[in-house]
Amino acid sequence: MVTELPPLVDSHCHLTWDSFDEDRDDVLARMRAEGVAQAIVVATSVENAAQCAALCEGREGLYPTVGIHPNDVPEDVEAALQALDEALYGGGFVAVGETGLDYYRDNTVAEVQQRSFRHHCLRALENDLPVIVHIRDREGSWQAFDDVGDIIEEHPGLRGVIHCYTGDPAHATRYRAAGFYISFAGILTFPKGENVREAARSVPIEETLVETDAPFLAPVPKRGKRNEPTFVAHTARALAELKGLSEADVRRITTRNARRLFRLPAEETAGPPTYRIRNSLYVNLTNACDARCTFCPRTHDDFEVKGHDLRRAKDPRFEEIVAAIEDPTAYDEIVFCGFGEPTLRMETLKQVAAWVHERGGRTRLNTNGHADLINRRPTAPELVGLIDVVSVSLNAQDRETFERHCPSAFSPDGFTPMLAWIRAAHAAGLVVVCTAVGGLEGVDMAACQRLAEDELGVGWRARTLSEVG
Ligand SMILES: [Zn+2]
Repeated sequence: MVTELPPLVDSHCHLTWDSFDEDRDDVLARMRAEGVAQAIVVATSVENAAQCAALCEGREGLYPTVGIHPNDVPEDVEAALQALDEALYGGGFVAVGETGLDYYRDNTVAEVQQRSFRHHCLRALENDLPVIVHIRDREGSWQAFDDVGDIIEEHPGLRGVIHCYTGDPAHATRYRAAGFYISFAGILTFPKGENVREAARSVPIEETLVETDAPFLAPVPKRGKRNEPTFVAHTARALAELKGLSEADVRRITTRNARRLFRLPAEETAGPPTYRIRNSLYVNLTNACDARCTFCPRTHDDFEVKGHDLRRAKDPRFEEIVAAIEDPTAYDEIVFCGFGEPTLRMETLKQVAAWVHERGGRTRLNTNGHADLINRRPTAPELVGLIDVVSVSLNAQDRETFERHCPSAFSPDGFTPMLAWIRAAHAAGLVVVCTAVGGLEGVDMAACQRLAEDELGVGWRARTLSEVG
């Protein structure tokens, strides 16, 4: 009985395709009825990402991504990547992709595809999201597989999945060592799929995902038909046979893997967009952060703050946040803090702050000072008139000590840009207070205070580790 088996996750499908226009709701109803609890709705362009987000909005178990398929990278790649950034900062996506390299169709020259792929990897790292990678090579060549290995290895700490895997065991091993899951689609069930079955045998089930890539590549016995998320069960069954595991084993383990990678909740509950401590209301703009502070619970996959469970798969949108705040004057202040770095959601941050001010509320921003590094532009002047107090986690008196406790996911130096941002914020007329956490090895609180007050000319406040900022 299907209902007694653990649920499945279809880790890759394209449900916005027009081949679903006639019966999309039936497809989704079947998916749930047949035990496919969740599906990643993968974008192939920035425009398509908006469609994916709209499809997933308000529907349980569907999660959108944003990315540009290697076959769809336009000639004006910079403009497309700019649009990608803007969409990404709007929030609400569980992965960056699909991206990757396709030397088989080569609609776009390899160098341009690589430029786009690297950009996706960087943004995935910064936003603490997984990257979804497509690889297709010319007949008899391994160039695309090799180049993907090189590019993901250029980005230590990157997480992701190689989707619809068609390579050999050796390349799969290389990608797994770089932190990637390997995902298998319906080709696993094809009579001519022996090379894919060989690769699947070589990948531990703990590092394996299953997917449909619907509407393409329907597995046997549905081969030749339009594919849909329900059919992922056939691929899971084939994988069980290959691995000498039960169908339940494969479902349980691949679902756990997918939930880990995409940070999907097991239950359809999302942490609140706001939470209250004392009489301040904290706005959880994002769980993502570009820094990996050793003392931060989220670095250790812990999403609880003072009894509030803040884990959520999708960042909240403007409407959800203001509905949760309701009346800004009911609180001493509205604090943009969340768990991650609020300036990753710069546009939403500004929108909500303006809304709070219009209604007579006060605002504070807690930040790591990486807003310019993240947004690639001078951001401090944009916050004037919107944010009443900026609290920056200085955290150390010098770069070396800072990097020891607060390494950045994408920059070898997070300290210098932070100081530059504090100076810019102060110069723009913002009220800035620097903080540091007492008790960390090598952190000299008196020196931090001197740096803040004497050198930077801003305020200072010492914090203890368990105290909410
Ligand atoms: Zn795809």
